[in-house]
Amino acid sequence: MKTQFICEKCGDRFETAEAAKKCEASHGVLIEARVMPGTAYKRSDVKAQEIWAKFRNAHGEEKAAKYQFIGYASVDFGDVKKERGCDE
Ligand SMILES: [Zn+2]
Repeated sequence: MKTQFICEKCGDRFETAEAAKKCEASHGVLIEARVMPGTAYKRSDVKAQEIWAKFRNAHGEEKAAKYQFIGYASVDFGDVKKERGCDE
């Protein structure tokens, strides 16, 4: 049996934990997420139609993105991770 280490950000597999951690560090991280005032919420709706997010990579570079609602998900993110084969 061969042990593999998986980057938790992209799912790539490596032979050493160091290589997997290096890959994880190369990805951006979410540093801020918010609902902008305006039309993001429809009346009487618990969820926003848009979420704006800011990310930063290991070099300090930042980018922002807008995400739009595409569907409902389980409120238990732990269950979602299990369904996708990710460890807690
Ligand atoms: Zn990766």
